[in-house]
Amino acid sequence: MLLDRLRDRFRLLRVRLSVWNTVVLAASIIITLIAVREGLRFTLLAEMDQLLLEDTYELGLAVGQLHPDVEQIHEEMNRKALGHEYRHLFVQVLDPDGQNLWSSIHTPPDAASRFPFATAARRPRTIDGFRIAERKLDAPKLPHYTIRVGSSLEYVDRDLAQLTRLMLLVAAVLLVVAPLVGYWLAGRATQPLGQIIRTASKLRPSRMDERLPLRGSGDELDQLSDTINRLLDRIAEYLERNREFIANAAHELRSPLAAIRSAVEVALNTDRSTDEYKELLYDVVEQCGDLGVLVNQLLLLAESDNAHAPIRQDAVRMDLLIQRSIDMFQGAAEESGIRLQTSHLSPLTVRGDATRLRQVVNNLIDNGLKFTQRGGRVTIDLFFDAQTQQVRLRVGDSGPGIPPGDLPHIFERFYRGDKSRQRESVTRGNGLGLSICRSVVNAHGGSIEAESQLGHGAHFIVDLPAYQRDPQPQPA
Ligand code: ADP
Repeated sequence: MLLDRLRDRFRLLRVRLSVWNTVVLAASIIITLIAVREGLRFTLLAEMDQLLLEDTYELGLAVGQLHPDVEQIHEEMNRKALGHEYRHLFVQVLDPDGQNLWSSIHTPPDAASRFPFATAARRPRTIDGFRIAERKLDAPKLPHYTIRVGSSLEYVDRDLAQLTRLMLLVAAVLLVVAPLVGYWLAGRATQPLGQIIRTASKLRPSRMDERLPLRGSGDELDQLSDTINRLLDRIAEYLERNREFIANAAHELRSPLAAIRSAVEVALNTDRSTDEYKELLYDVVEQCGDLGVLVNQLLLLAESDNAHAPIRQDAVRMDLLIQRSIDMFQGAAEESGIRLQTSHLSPLTVRGDATRLRQVVNNLIDNGLKFTQRGGRVTIDLFFDAQTQQVRLRVGDSGPGIPPGDLPHIFERFYRGDKSRQRESVTRGNGLGLSICRSVVNAHGGSIEAESQLGHGAHFIVDLPAYQRDPQPQPA
């Protein structure tokens, strides 16, 4: 239980940051301590060596000059030893075999066994707590004799111990203060995270108006809040679009249902002739047909929007598909006095679902015919666009065009422009045709755009990726 709580607490970013901060600080302190201690030791030893070498040289000269007056030699050596008593300095003169000839006071009684003779030693050595420097006397009367000066390392060790104590004290204070300051700083740094968590936990699909506050510092946490806010904007927009879509769909489904219901109610109210019943039933069938179209369109939209349901990947000859649609609409076009024509149909193939692509072509031709007046024309082109390296379908008409205010919205679901621009005889659509086109084209990796100038017709341009195994797409 307690262990679990401790583990939970350790998971907190604030605690982990403080712990890491302390570990790094402790490691730095240890490294600094070792480096400073060794640096000081090196400096003190170098200084001592310098003094010892100077002493051997100076005493060597004195011994050479005072020889053979042994008493004076002793006096000089003792003077030196007394002068540096605190360093436990001692001086010896050794014969060529390393035997002690003369030695000053303070020379350790067991010097012969403690400090082995080394004629080849050129640099001072550390032996048994002493630093020893040796030098050959160059006095002619004392050939191959050696002068040795030794000094205790006690005061070097004492200085080092003092420094170590001081540094350990500083380290201890730092190791107590640093985690506390680190914990406080980490708390301040992670405070906005707590706010992000609190705000995010309040968010519900039904209440998407909450946003994370930006502190204006521009740091990573501000950037994170900003990114989350933009994500929330997109989710809110998506939810709102879905809500609108469902409301619109319900509204559209209600009209034919209401019409069916009233037709049936009329039929039930009074006895009628067989012809009257037939007429009412025709009405019901017609409304059922409208309902069926709407439901199919909604299903098609849902399928095309579903990124997880892959579309078919057949090789679809677009020119043949378009020709079949033209043939299908030709009768209706002639009846309305509109020329349905093609100026360029290149034999081009795209990869995709023929049924859905046919739906796109049919919707565009249907719209063209719906908005073009008698005597006008609807033109369809298909060519390979060398610039975009895509198959381009263009459906244009000589209708009234699309007002600039409508143009940005015509691909939205259930969006319908002004009815007055439509031909009178045509029934009003439900505003789903172009959004289905966009959804299908997008699912095929393509794009769809509309261009229009009021009074000069409308043009719809569909770009689709060319089928890769096409031998040689022909530019228009
Ligand atoms: P609908 O089924 O109502 O036509 P669409 O999604 O096909 O729905 O079209 C949406 C709107 O775009 C139409 O209501 C109309 O205002 C405009 N529109 C589409 N095609 C044309 C066109 N060829 N000429 C003029 N306006 C058009």
